[in-house]
Amino acid sequence: MAYGRLWPAHPKPLPDELLSSWIVRVAQANGIKLQTLCWMLFGNERSPWNRDVDRSAPKWLIKTICEHTGTRYWDAYHTTLTTYRTILYPNRRRSGQLRWILPIRTFAMTRKGYGQQFCPKCLAEDQIPYFRKAWRVALFTFCPKHQVMLHDACPLCDVPVAFHRSDFGVEQGNMRPIFCCYACGFDFRAATTTAATFPSKEIGELFCEVLPFLQAPIVRMERFDQGFFVVLHQFCRIMGSHQNAGNLRRFVANRLGIDLTEIELGRTSIEHRRVAERHDLLLCALWLMASPTERIREVWEAKAVRYNLMLKDIGESPKWYLQLVGKCSNWRLGYRAI
Ligand SMILES: [Zn+2]
Ligand SMILES: [Zn+2]
Repeated sequence: MAYGRLWPAHPKPLPDELLSSWIVRVAQANGIKLQTLCWMLFGNERSPWNRDVDRSAPKWLIKTICEHTGTRYWDAYHTTLTTYRTILYPNRRRSGQLRWILPIRTFAMTRKGYGQQFCPKCLAEDQIPYFRKAWRVALFTFCPKHQVMLHDACPLCDVPVAFHRSDFGVEQGNMRPIFCCYACGFDFRAATTTAATFPSKEIGELFCEVLPFLQAPIVRMERFDQGFFVVLHQFCRIMGSHQNAGNLRRFVANRLGIDLTEIELGRTSIEHRRVAERHDLLLCALWLMASPTERIREVWEAKAVRYNLMLKDIGESPKWYLQLVGKCSNWRLGYRAI
């Protein structure tokens, strides 16, 4: 395989495919080890696996892969999570948490963190199995196509999914396919599935409307703009916080007539929670988002959430939210119809 020329096999990114998934497929299609491919492309110093390559792929890395696969730059760029910027989070940041983006901790080549999810049915149906960008987004707790919960770890050994490690330390030819756990070999396509359930039709419909919107090739600023996701995130944070002590979640659960599951309260952000907890938080937060004008008032009057907590650490927030919360600023005067 000569450097600087188009490689014999040059698969293009599949719909909504993650950059890391595509790189792994490129190596496998050419019958070379991923490590060898990365060494040839980037050298030892610049291994893409020392970073969260899907989150922050440098231009040179994308350009190099494009050269060898005959892919257009923007098609390759769209395999990175950067395309969620301005819709899910405001700025490109090299470090720290990105709002709604699930973290995978990278240290050398070991990934710790349950930030890579998958849908067994999508993988099983794929002619060429691959990993989607949407599976790295905290809002995706279930697959909108198959209506089943996503897995955020290997169902057999509970190790985080790290498909790029499948050929590390093994001989060429013994590589595990992308859909198998690198640690125990379990075939993710055979994982059992649990149907996604929603406490009300309204919440189910809203959830099922939000997710495909994020998967659209070009994210349009319509109903679900950055402001919507900022406020949704804020309610998830409030419900997971010590300060609120579960009051808001309890109120919403009572209102919906559902049982409240235990979640760990504290500083853990939604992005660091496992999929089941995220799903629970999102269901309650979406109840508020389905009708914010009435429901923000309702939860405040029921003392399920305090005024200052609704604004705490929110950063940039949409005008409509500030106006609604502003009406809750004085408990003595009550909700003010401004
Ligand atoms: Zn699916
Ligand atoms: Zn496993």
